[in-house]
Amino acid sequence: MGDLVQITSRRALAKPAPPVFDPAELDLPPSPMPSRLPGYLALHETGELARRAEAAWELLRGCTVCPQNCPVDRTTGRTGACHSGEEIIVGSWNIHRREEPPISGTRGAGTIFFGGCQARCLYCQNFWLSQMGKGIRVGPERLAEMMLELQRKGCHNIDLVTPTHFVPQLLKALVIASDKGLHIPMVYNSAGYEHLHTLRLLDGVIDIYLPDAKYADNREAMRTSKMHHYVEYNRMTLKEMYRQVGGLQVDRYGIATRGLIVRHLVMPNGHAGTRDVLTWIARELGPDIGLSVMDQYFPAYKVHGDEELGRRLTWREYREALDVVEDLPFENLFLQEDLTEIDTTADV
Ligand code: SF4
Repeated sequence: MGDLVQITSRRALAKPAPPVFDPAELDLPPSPMPSRLPGYLALHETGELARRAEAAWELLRGCTVCPQNCPVDRTTGRTGACHSGEEIIVGSWNIHRREEPPISGTRGAGTIFFGGCQARCLYCQNFWLSQMGKGIRVGPERLAEMMLELQRKGCHNIDLVTPTHFVPQLLKALVIASDKGLHIPMVYNSAGYEHLHTLRLLDGVIDIYLPDAKYADNREAMRTSKMHHYVEYNRMTLKEMYRQVGGLQVDRYGIATRGLIVRHLVMPNGHAGTRDVLTWIARELGPDIGLSVMDQYFPAYKVHGDEELGRRLTWREYREALDVVEDLPFENLFLQEDLTEIDTTADV
């Protein structure tokens, strides 16, 4: 698998993007305030952030945080399909340098990987964390400390990975962290399977949305990820995220300050419905979003021996996805660097 590279014009598909400008060359301090203050600080000032946290907490009782709608009261410690109760599960919190260039930038994203997951992907590469209960259990105070630690390390943002099932806890943590000086943007990096009422509580809180668009077919989504009506929920999710933050905006160093970047993982044998997914995105969202087309599928967890999913993607399959992209009007593309190589092997 290659790193993601940024292509700013579909006509430039055959060329590698220039590297992101390194502010360290200007001898800037390690953790400058972002050029635009994140939205959650304004909401915190008026008390709205705390009000949202309280409203979100109510969703945990007979949990409707996500579309799985599990009939459990998580405030009593009971768990739903995400195997998560009231406590937050964290797998790791670290500097991450291999997200899309505007997210990782030069100092890295401050990535917090959450444990548990609303989905049950048979091919999950992090199954030990998403489906086997690993990770440490923390409360909102400790999560706030993790965010502040990542900010002290100079990260460009807080990159929340698989956060959906912990939105109420996250909002509580954000109130605490804002009180203590957190001031870098929030990135919400999810499966793109959200309830509208939960997303509305994040309006103005999240600066950058980084959702997946995984499938174009509900039966495939159900069979391999156990998410019902994924396509309808996903499309509603992407539209609402776009309504909230709009197209991708970057500062003068190329670092994301706001906006939507949609990720699509190309899968073997057309399993993800790549053409339909990308065509829908181009038609229904703006060409100004970021679009990340990924090739790193490999057969992990339960798909060894699966006729359809038990192998890696071929180079030809990824190239076909790029042929689709070339005909669509996206302005900000993030593609695997394999694209820029002359590759005569069958596999990516
Ligand atoms: S967040 Fe978890 S418990 Fe709540 S509805 Fe979703 S999967 Fe079920």
